[in-house]
Amino acid sequence: MIPITTVQFGSEEEELVLEVLRSGLIAQGPKVAALEAGFAEAYGSKHAIAVNNGTTALIAALQVLDLQPGDEVVTTPFTFVATLNAILQAGATAVFADARLDDFNIDPESIAGAITERTKVIAPVHLYGQMADMDKIVDLARSKGLRILEDSAQAQGAQFGERFAGSYGLATFSLYATKNMTTGEGGIITTDDDELADRLRLLRNQGMRARYQYELAGSNYRLTDLQAALALPQLARYDETVAKRRRNAAYLSNALAEVAGIVTPRVLDDRTHVWHQYTIRVTEESGITRDELSAKLLERGVGNGVYYPKLVFDYDAYAGHPQIRVSEVPVAARLTREALSLPVHPALTTDELDTIAGAVADIVAGSR
Ligand SMILES: *Cc1c(COP(=O)(O)O)cnc(C)c1O
Repeated sequence: MIPITTVQFGSEEEELVLEVLRSGLIAQGPKVAALEAGFAEAYGSKHAIAVNNGTTALIAALQVLDLQPGDEVVTTPFTFVATLNAILQAGATAVFADARLDDFNIDPESIAGAITERTKVIAPVHLYGQMADMDKIVDLARSKGLRILEDSAQAQGAQFGERFAGSYGLATFSLYATKNMTTGEGGIITTDDDELADRLRLLRNQGMRARYQYELAGSNYRLTDLQAALALPQLARYDETVAKRRRNAAYLSNALAEVAGIVTPRVLDDRTHVWHQYTIRVTEESGITRDELSAKLLERGVGNGVYYPKLVFDYDAYAGHPQIRVSEVPVAARLTREALSLPVHPALTTDELDTIAGAVADIVAGSR
């Protein structure tokens, strides 16, 4: 089986983890501080605050914006459930704009239609490793006096023009096991705002400024030095890792270019893609449904993933939820039927890439 994702650690990670183990200081300490400094520097943010996972990062980022009940956050319905859960947990109301077919991301024009008097935040998700249309989102946020919160969980290192994901004021990242860089569980918040950064650091550590000096009602959102030790070498070689993902994506797109009904992912002008996922669209013309293609690929040993099979609010658990306002989102709905992610991770060999693309071409040819 060719897996959809793998983790690759080397001797540097082993050595750093051992160093932390032997130091006896395994909770938040100098390695977390080094990770924060390196991350902020690498991606053009003034502050990076490490936390225990990407969902916590989103919750904390929303908490420091002091949202009141009824305040609205506009986001995409085509995302991982954490984006929605964080909005609910922060006490705000989730409102949805439609997605775009070309980049799978939130559609700025649809955001404009979703904004009301109560809107406080626009929360784009940079899906699969390509950033949303940030120029338009920034214009919209400026003209309406709204905050932007980027869910950059899948887009570490991605760029829109010169700017990195996470450099638009307030943003979150995930270091979960499947992400481009991982500590098993982990998250990072980036911001240029000194006051928000200060409050995030307090919030992470029980609201404590100095020992037993509590300035706000906080929590324990801390990452550990053991985890940061895993991240530091990955951060140092991150660009190399992404270069491999990019090479694999280009290989697949070339091999799949002529397969009828399969739309390969586009990298839009002025953007760089970090290929967290390589996601094709399986359209009607292919003669096969996305789910059938997924099952047949699995039979042939080609791992694949459906991200995401339903709109994020379209589960019984959220039906009638008082903090959710659903809307018509036809493009996002179409994406839930057509999106299929193929392996693109850096450990793939050329033979495996040939197997993946060959299996897709063969299955589609046999279905038409
Ligand atoms: C992974 C992910 C998260 C949540 O991160 P965790 O570290 O798993 O809590 C949030 N949003 C998106 C889009 C993600 O892909």
